[in-house]
Amino acid sequence: MNQCDELTALKTKQGFICDMDGVIYSGESLINGALEFVRWLEESGKRYLFLTNASAYTPLGLKRRLARLGLNIDESQFYTSALATAEFLHNQSPGCSAYVIGDSGLHHALNQKGISMDEVNPDYVVVGETRDYNYDKISRAIAFVENGARLIGAHPDITSPGDDGLLPAARALVAPIELATGRKAYYVGKPNALMMRTGISMLGVHSSEAAIIGDRMDTDIIAGIESGITTVLVLTGVTAKEQVKDYPYRPKYIFEDVGELAAQFTEEKAMVRRSLAAHLKVPHGFLRHQAERSIA
Ligand SMILES: [Mg+2]
Repeated sequence: MNQCDELTALKTKQGFICDMDGVIYSGESLINGALEFVRWLEESGKRYLFLTNASAYTPLGLKRRLARLGLNIDESQFYTSALATAEFLHNQSPGCSAYVIGDSGLHHALNQKGISMDEVNPDYVVVGETRDYNYDKISRAIAFVENGARLIGAHPDITSPGDDGLLPAARALVAPIELATGRKAYYVGKPNALMMRTGISMLGVHSSEAAIIGDRMDTDIIAGIESGITTVLVLTGVTAKEQVKDYPYRPKYIFEDVGELAAQFTEEKAMVRRSLAAHLKVPHGFLRHQAERSIA
């Protein structure tokens, strides 16, 4: 397959799963080309889902966060590790109880699935990223796990990018509880196939017609490979280009940012218009509408 065919193969996928942090935004700033990329998804009639390991926000919170950055996305197009964790607990043990260390996104998702908060004898200890974390909470979590509660991490990320550097993420906050109890947590978020399967099913396309776009080799790209969907790495987040070779697997595509992806797709339209116009000996502009319709 030549480069043009490869680009067409990616462009004609029906569904796109997009990571958020390091792909669409970084801290409180939109990443270069994110607006153009989402516009391309919309105008091309693609199905898309923002799938994130961040557990702190509800889908409404994420919708509002993106709206502040100029992107209007429906709440139904977000799937977080908090929602996946609530789904997992609900399937495993309907009506169970949990002691939760995490932010509103995690509490809200568990509530929605009928999982009650229990600070006396919970079935589960569930941990997501939060600033509301202290010695007392860790001690209580350890006592509950020692008493038989199962330990669940919303996702296995150790850090997440913050405005002033790295922030500890769920796995880093679970670590003291694992160390003290000698128990290993079960992590629900990416790259767990559990979350990916639900994401692909929400997308509503066959896995052969889906692609994942992410900035992390150790979650987004491996999750895509293990779920049998096409993988796209962007270099605007955690993974630098020279680090790709350190992994035993590789992404199918690498782009500087989602802007480059959108520009390539748009450039392909221009290429087709130019070649059609040359072939038919008509002005380029004449075919713009037809070319865009036929390859969009
Ligand atoms: Mg990311």
